Amino acid sequence: MKKTVRDIDVKEKRVLVRCDFNVPQKDGVITDDIRITSAIPTIDYLVKNRAKVILMSHLGRPEGTADMKYTLKPVADRLGELLGREILFVSAPEVVSEDVRRAAELLEPGEIMLLENVRFRKEETKNDPAFSKELASLGEIFVSDAFGTAHRAHSSTAGIADYLPAVSGFLIEKELKFLGNAVENPARPFVAIMGGAKVADKIPVIENLLGKVDTLIIGGGMAYTFLKSQGCEIGGSILDSENIGLAGEFIKKANNMGVKLMLPTDIVCASDFADDAKVGVFPASGIPAELQGLDIGPETIKAYSDEIKKAKTVIWNGPMGVFEMKSYEEGTKKVAEALAESDAVTVIGGGD
Ligand code: AMP
Repeated sequence: MKKTVRDIDVKEKRVLVRCDFNVPQKDGVITDDIRITSAIPTIDYLVKNRAKVILMSHLGRPEGTADMKYTLKPVADRLGELLGREILFVSAPEVVSEDVRRAAELLEPGEIMLLENVRFRKEETKNDPAFSKELASLGEIFVSDAFGTAHRAHSSTAGIADYLPAVSGFLIEKELKFLGNAVENPARPFVAIMGGAKVADKIPVIENLLGKVDTLIIGGGMAYTFLKSQGCEIGGSILDSENIGLAGEFIKKANNMGVKLMLPTDIVCASDFADDAKVGVFPASGIPAELQGLDIGPETIKAYSDEIKKAKTVIWNGPMGVFEMKSYEEGTKKVAEALAESDAVTVIGGGD
């Protein structure tokens, strides 16, 4: 079991907490503060246990410049309102400045400070060790509680843990427990849906899931590598040619293990990778050479939705097609609707 804030003495220590305060805003006003309220259990615990709390987060994509459109000041204000106490906010374009350092040193036990948007520094998303070190120098303990960003290796989420004792917060603990339980102890039937562009990225996940699920649904760009492995003509569709053999082995393995592996049976094809290039629906076994598949077809949508409706646990990663373009969003949308209508425990992951 991972260590949490409960397993470490935080009293009178400067504790750096990486939160996910990437909240939606309209005209500088926060429109949904769930990410802020989700962070409160950890913050409360630290305050009650007399820690000196230093919060950090990113907000939007300022691309390594101090673009004040993305300042965390509104978050400091909202958090202050929610907690009914003052949040110290020292806005510094360089995130860690002399003023910030002094403010951190002067923090009293039970006080809370929020740093400026860590993505004001271009080093953040590069997981630059120098920036990790700079951040780490402000505190004595690191708490990882940014569930939405914890999978990214950035200076404030990952690199910093090389320089400080690191534990997780209650949000991470809760989500891991929920995810772990959904996957290790699933209510059955257990259906996994995998999509997205490349097979290569998902090999370890697929391997792991085969031993757990009742049904594995494959869609999106990776489906064509699986179709190819079964001798289908896939035209100019995206292909992970190095992994055709492996895809074939996965299908064999699934068969041997009694896992139902579902592939698309019909495909929305286009003459080009463009929204206005849609040609029509073709059987997955024979995509014309001059076309490429960009979404799953209606027959496939129906089969996948029916399977999802029967499930008691569903996990989903990756789109069914090029959902960024209107002409190829239907498969992903319909799968999302099937999940929304289902009573199953549903876990959806992935950047998109
Ligand atoms: P991933 O990051 O691996 O989850 O892949 C997500 C991307 O896969 C999205 O940007 C989709 O546009 C893309 N994608 C899904 N289906 C296809 C397809 N049939 N051909 C090309 N790209 C696709």
